[in-house]
Amino acid sequence: STAEVESDVSSSLQVVVRIRPPLSRELRGTGLRPYQCTTAVEPGERNVILSENLPAVVNQQGNMVTDGGALYNTYRFTFDCVYDQHCPQELVYRQSGQQGYNAAIIAYGQTGTGKTYTMEGAMEGPDRGIIPRTVEDIFTYIVNDPEPSSKYLVRSSYLQIYNEVVSDLLKPERSSLSIREDRRRGVFVEGLSEWVVRSPAEVYQLMQRGQALRATGATKLNEVSSRSHAVCVIIVEKCTTPGAAEEGAAGAPWSRSSSSTNGGDAAVPAIQSIKVGKLNLVDLAGSERVHVTGAVGRRLEESKKINASLSALGNVIAALTDRRERSHIPYRDSKLTRLLEDSLGGNCRTTMIATIAPSLEAFQESLSTLKFANRAK
Ligand code: ADP
Ligand code: MG
Repeated sequence: STAEVESDVSSSLQVVVRIRPPLSRELRGTGLRPYQCTTAVEPGERNVILSENLPAVVNQQGNMVTDGGALYNTYRFTFDCVYDQHCPQELVYRQSGQQGYNAAIIAYGQTGTGKTYTMEGAMEGPDRGIIPRTVEDIFTYIVNDPEPSSKYLVRSSYLQIYNEVVSDLLKPERSSLSIREDRRRGVFVEGLSEWVVRSPAEVYQLMQRGQALRATGATKLNEVSSRSHAVCVIIVEKCTTPGAAEEGAAGAPWSRSSSSTNGGDAAVPAIQSIKVGKLNLVDLAGSERVHVTGAVGRRLEESKKINASLSALGNVIAALTDRRERSHIPYRDSKLTRLLEDSLGGNCRTTMIATIAPSLEAFQESLSTLKFANRAK
């Protein structure tokens, strides 16, 4: 029924906040000013407090006891979950990364607040982020599928959107790619290379290659990575021979959203292909207010485009959460929202992870990140 569909849509969007630990630079303080923590998470892990004078507004249990309003800049926001600085990668993944296999996970925040740490982290050990853990889970699932006739195809792509230009990070000669849509493939980037991967290690090799290519561009790595969106796409297809198809799919975590994509495909008549899922893992450009004043030429255009595409994303997510607006979801306003069109809303799960720093120097940026995330709820 319609009601069921609607409640499904609203619960398919999760907005969480992650606070990173202070860096040694921040702990040293700036000039005469010692380090000052501005963030607290209330028990229950749903409320975050941001305050210029935390000791005055939060008691020892971590609860806000005064709103600090006029005296100190104090704000409190509620999200699906708030992860404090001690929260391990594993818990973030289990609660917010493990979303089934038709999903988008989007990291939003100021540069230096932990977007890449959260999405990628290390490729080995406890610091592994969402992407390596997701990839491991996919292959673990495949290896443990008891149905002998099941065959899986896992493909991966890695792209960057910089200045509203989409380029392939695994085939650097492919730039200015177009985003298209058809019934069989959904939304796709035309000409984007797709790499068949057989193990988690192969995915990590691809990512390392993409990052190396990113670094050899005209601008330095830090600069480009903070000013571009990076999207890792993982597509999992399960193929079974006709007759065995339905048994094989039963009980799969993604079987709810699987659809037959190969009804009339003459190229592979003996195989029924069930597209089981597409994951978009997005490490956004830094959300820091890019200073447009003083910027000229290329830099000015770049700043405007980053701001425009992040606000387009905010508008799409806000429209998805507001049911009255659902007929007017402005996907076409940026390359990013266009690309994510079939991964936001519908039967897909979307998680936005907003990352913030705990220090006073980041206060204004933390506040604007929390406001952005709050609007997306
Ligand atoms: P961003 O991608 O948002 O610019 P990074 O992921 O590069 O930020 O993080 C900046 C620094 O903070 C890195 O040195 C990273 O290892 C560290 N860091 C970020 N989040 C955490 C965390 N939750 N725990 C430990 N270190 C973190
Ligand atoms: Mg980064």
